[in-house]
Amino acid sequence: MKCEILCVGTELLLGDTLNTNSQFLAKELSFLGIGVFHQSVVGDNPERVRESLKVAFDRSDMVITTGGLGPTKDDLTKEECAKFFNKKLILNEEALSRLKAIFIKRGFELSESNIKQAYLPEGCIPMQNNNGTAPGCIITDNNKTLIMLPGPPKEVYPMFKESVVPYLKTLSNDVFVSKVLRVFGIGESNAADRISNLLDNENPTVAPYAKDNEVIFRITAKCKNEDEAAILIKPIEQEIREKLGDCIYGEGEKTLEYVVGELLVNNNLTISAAESCTGGLVSGKLINYPGISSAFLEGAVTYTNEAKMKRLNVKKETLDKYGAVSEQTAKEMAEGIAKAAGTDIGVSTTGIAGPGGGSDEKPVGLVYIGIYYNNETYVKKLNLSGSREKIRNRAVMEVLDMIRRKIS
Ligand code: ATP
Ligand code: MG
Repeated sequence: MKCEILCVGTELLLGDTLNTNSQFLAKELSFLGIGVFHQSVVGDNPERVRESLKVAFDRSDMVITTGGLGPTKDDLTKEECAKFFNKKLILNEEALSRLKAIFIKRGFELSESNIKQAYLPEGCIPMQNNNGTAPGCIITDNNKTLIMLPGPPKEVYPMFKESVVPYLKTLSNDVFVSKVLRVFGIGESNAADRISNLLDNENPTVAPYAKDNEVIFRITAKCKNEDEAAILIKPIEQEIREKLGDCIYGEGEKTLEYVVGELLVNNNLTISAAESCTGGLVSGKLINYPGISSAFLEGAVTYTNEAKMKRLNVKKETLDKYGAVSEQTAKEMAEGIAKAAGTDIGVSTTGIAGPGGGSDEKPVGLVYIGIYYNNETYVKKLNLSGSREKIRNRAVMEVLDMIRRKIS
């Protein structure tokens, strides 16, 4: 099936709003094994919306639109789509009563333009909007399918998952089963190169994408049932695991901070963090894990040399001789916090996040991260690049990865 996405909204054309709906839909459709061949954007203009529908349906079997289902005059997607399929708009009683209930709850009166939202093309499949007022709908006609979604992403995402996915699944007897492998410590192109032989595989498909400092591989199998999918996925997963080794830190939705939190708690280990350039972000990430209270005991943001000496017992000589951003200081910080907090593990960060403060010897992006565990201290030197925010966030991920590698 050939599918395409048509986003309606002048604000998208003007660049005022980033087209995240398109990104979301493209990704979700690819997970479902549905090929998206085109994406386009059109303004809130009746002729041009009609023209776009014509172009889209001349080349595709299914078009998914977003935007323009609201109550105002510029919201014209539904009207134009109905005209395109020669369907009348008729009042949908269920949509009307839902709309009334929402307005009563908000204490507003239902106006004529609001009631317009309860009109849907005749014969369509309505889709309830649990996060807004405009219902979506699906029109099928002559082997063509049009799926209309509202504009706001917070309405699009749940409506897609709750109504569109179940509908799309009825169109095929196949099931799509995905397995996600999460990778840290190797760049996207390097990771993709290592498994390049798998990237052209047709079933299962293997799709890499980079996200927030990590790389994700999604293996998707199209089969008659889940058991068959598992058989197809297994050897591919094995091959990826062999080629990427311990760079694979987890599966599915579990983030690096979650995996680390889980490892700490399951292994009954306690941890503390002494942070300079990351200013508490490491502690924050660890605390994101629910149930971390049995593992995470203390975090200290020791930004100045005085704080490093006073709170962590970093030696003055160390700071004088090597500087705050040094392997030696990172080591003493990790050991110092573990001792002060009485934890099994102590981690530390010290670096130059920029944009100023760098030198030839110690450039912006130089960060040392340390870990004390089992009477040993290991320090890793990082040469990072990018904005202050990017350097700090990357350093945090590196610390989490370092903890994971030490304790797993
Ligand atoms: P409303 O009832 O809010 O008017 P609607 O279905 O008519 O909803 P639009 O008016 O087209 O939708 O868009 C509402 C808002 O949703 C826009 O101002 C914009 O912020 C956001 N939005 C619309 N389309 C997109 C898109 N493709 N990507 C991201 N955000 C979008
Ligand atoms: Mg609108």
